Amino acid sequence: MRLSSDVMVIGGGPAGAIAARTLAEHRIDTVLIERKLDNSKPCGGGIPSPAFKEFMIPLDIVKTQVHSIEIISPSQKRLSITLRGGTISIVKRSEFDSLLRREAVSKGTRLIEAEFVSFLETSPSVKVLLRRDDGEPVELTSRYAIVSDGVNSRARVSLGLKPVNSVFTLSTRFSEIKSNKCEFWFGSEHAPGFYSWVFPLSAGTGSLEANNIKNRFYLFCERQGFKLCDMGVHSTAEGLCNLRDLRGYRIPLWSLRNLVLQYNSSILFAGDAAGLVMPLTFEGIYYAMASGKQAAEAIIEKKTSEYKKLWKERYLRRFSFMKFLWRYFLRNDRAVERLIDLHRIPEVQEVAMELWLRKSVDKKSLNSYVKLLLKVKE
Ligand SMILES: Cc1cc2nc3c(=O)[nH]c(=O)nc-3n(C[C@H](O)[C@H](O)[C@H](O)COP(=O)(O)OP(=O)(O)OC[C@H]3O[C@@H](n4cnc5c(N)ncnc54)[C@H](O)[C@@H]3O)c2cc1C
Repeated sequence: MRLSSDVMVIGGGPAGAIAARTLAEHRIDTVLIERKLDNSKPCGGGIPSPAFKEFMIPLDIVKTQVHSIEIISPSQKRLSITLRGGTISIVKRSEFDSLLRREAVSKGTRLIEAEFVSFLETSPSVKVLLRRDDGEPVELTSRYAIVSDGVNSRARVSLGLKPVNSVFTLSTRFSEIKSNKCEFWFGSEHAPGFYSWVFPLSAGTGSLEANNIKNRFYLFCERQGFKLCDMGVHSTAEGLCNLRDLRGYRIPLWSLRNLVLQYNSSILFAGDAAGLVMPLTFEGIYYAMASGKQAAEAIIEKKTSEYKKLWKERYLRRFSFMKFLWRYFLRNDRAVERLIDLHRIPEVQEVAMELWLRKSVDKKSLNSYVKLLLKVKE
């Protein structure tokens, strides 16, 4: 089968669906390619509530609103923070992604369920080979392509680019809401360079190394008091947890050196396929949607060469600073204790929460966070 469109969007997660919706809203003929329409990505599903207004996403998709977070330090000191100026909205990813794709379709996007296989041509137009579930090959030709097929991006590799740098996670999801908080557990035994988490609909652990991740998850269960065993991960005779419900998945570790937003004037990257997850917090849904929208707007305005510049103008300082904090404070447990203690200071806490919940805040907030942290760091 042969198809053509003005723009193809490869991957129908948050980045791709928002990109396709934005293009279709401007009457641009768009094909959105998703390999699995009932895909359910392992994810905490936590999104800062202001994002729903910014991207005009109906609120009834939200399962619960989280009003407070709890941070547990390696030495078991707890820091509870009541969120002000927003909440963390928890969504079920399968439902959320389907909703975003339906919205894109309602604006005129053509959605096809097929797997991207390879690029056949990359310039001046883009031709790709896709394969449908029934095995039928499809050739699609477009003027532009947005690559948004996630952290394991096959499209990126097909262009001869390095895979996205990443950290590893192992997590489980709950079928019903188990908690009304988001808990972040720090400790190098179970989450070196990352954290373990218990969110209303999921729990898991992350690590810089993939090989020992199951044991790290067990260690986290133990530390957490086996509460996870009540949550669908069952205790065995040995006192360990049953791994039946656990899923491993990678999360991009952003770096400026490895940042790929554009291949040529026809092919742009968005979301995890571009590595756009915020270091330290490892929040990616907002930045996936934001980059999908920016990439689409660059195509609408026929200024694809401006996309990288615009992304950098808006986000580079934030990503670079968070990467610095990640490298400095998540290097060992002593440094993590210090970071958490710093966030007991009301001024630091306030500006950190503002930056996390409200992405549209101006440079002033980022500057004051930087200044406060650097002032009290030593
Ligand atoms: C365990 C875990 C917990 C997380 N928790 C949070 C959280 O609470 N909050 C947060 O903000 N972020 C979280 N993240 C990060 C977040 O999930 C990602 O940053 C976000 O999903 C990126 O969106 P995306 O659209 O770029 O990619 P994805 O969501 O990965 O979407 C890519 C899409 O492309 C499709 N695809 C892949 N390959 C192909 C192919 N060859 N052909 C066609 N289609 C293809 C996939 O099926 C998928 O639908 C978490 C990540 C993990 C792993």
